[in-house]
Amino acid sequence: MAQLIDGKQIAETVLATVTQTTGELSARGITPGLAVVIVGEDPASQVYVASKSRKAKECGFHSVQHTLPADTDQATLVALIETLNADPAIHGILVQLPLPDHIDSGVIIQTISPEKDVDGFTFVNVGRLGTGEIDSAFVPCTPSGAMIMIERARGRDLSGLNAVVVGRSNIVGKPMANLLLAANCTVTIAHSRTANLPELCRSADILVAAVGRPEMIKGDWVKPGATVIDVGINRIPAPEKGEGKTRLVGDVAYDEAEKVAGAITPVPGGVGPMTIALLMANTLVAACRTAGITPPR
Ligand code: NDP
Repeated sequence: MAQLIDGKQIAETVLATVTQTTGELSARGITPGLAVVIVGEDPASQVYVASKSRKAKECGFHSVQHTLPADTDQATLVALIETLNADPAIHGILVQLPLPDHIDSGVIIQTISPEKDVDGFTFVNVGRLGTGEIDSAFVPCTPSGAMIMIERARGRDLSGLNAVVVGRSNIVGKPMANLLLAANCTVTIAHSRTANLPELCRSADILVAAVGRPEMIKGDWVKPGATVIDVGINRIPAPEKGEGKTRLVGDVAYDEAEKVAGAITPVPGGVGPMTIALLMANTLVAACRTAGITPPR
C-alpha cells in the first residue's frame, strides 16, 4: 500500500507559512497585493477566481478582483494589465484562462510585468526556469506544488532518479520537467506520440501524469515503489451516486496504482490544493522581492 501524499495537509502548511510571513511583512508596512482578472462568465473560471481571491484575503493579502464582461476588447484588457503593472500596491497579477476567443491570450500574458507574473507564464520567467535560474523565476504554481510533494515523499535529494513526465503543456508538463532536471533527475517527457508509454512509465522512480485522460495510467505501468504525482482532474459520470451525477478522477487508475507505488497523490485532495497555495506563495515572494527581503523557502 502506497503512502498517501496529502495535498490538502501540505497546502495548509504552505499557507500557514505564507500567512505568518505576511503578518511580519505587514508589520513593516508591506502588504502583499494580488490582482485577479477574469473576463466573461464561465462558471468554472468564476469558481476558481473566487477561491483564489478568498484565499488571498485569508492570507492577509490586499486582494483585488477585476471582473470584465465577455465582450471586453483586447485593448481594454491590455490597458488594465498596464495599470496593474504600475500599481505599487499590487505585487502579483493573475489573468484567469481561458480568455474569450476574440482576445489573444499570448498578448495578454506577455503584457504582465515579469516581476508580477505569479503564474510564471511570461517568456522571461519561462526562460529563467529553463536556464536553471530558479531563484529569480516565478515557476508555474501546479508543477511547483507537485515538486514540494515529491520532496515530501522522497526528500530533497532527487539526484540520479529517473523521472517521467507524461504531458508537455507549457503550464504543467514542460515546467515540471525543468524543475526535475534542475533537481538532477534524469528526465523524460512523454506525450501523445510517445512509443511504448507503459514501458517508459515503468522505468520511472518519479512518475508525473499531466494528460487530462481519466485513469489512463494503469497499475502495471507503475514501477514498484515509485512516487506517483497525478496532476489530472477529470470529471466522469458516476451513476452509482444517482442519475446525472459525476465524480472527479485523475489521470492515474488510483486503486491499481496505490498497490504498487511507494507514494501517490489522490484526486481530489492532491495537486489541486497545492496549486492555489503556491499562487499565494509566489505572490508573497513577489512582495518580498519588491521590498528587497529574502523570501521564505
Ligand atoms: P494539455 O491538454 O495542455 O496537455 C495534455 C498533454 O497530455 C499533452 O502534452 C498531450 O500530448 C498529452 N497527451 C494527451 N493524450 C495522451 C496520450 N494518450 N498519451 C500520452 N500523452 C498524452 O493539459 P494540461 O497540461 O493543461 O493539463 C493536464 C491535466 O492536468 C488536465 O487534466 C488538467 O485538468 C489538469 N490540471 C490540473 C491542475 C491542478 O491544479 N491540479 C492545474 C492544471 C491542469 P500532445 O502534446 O502530443 O498533444
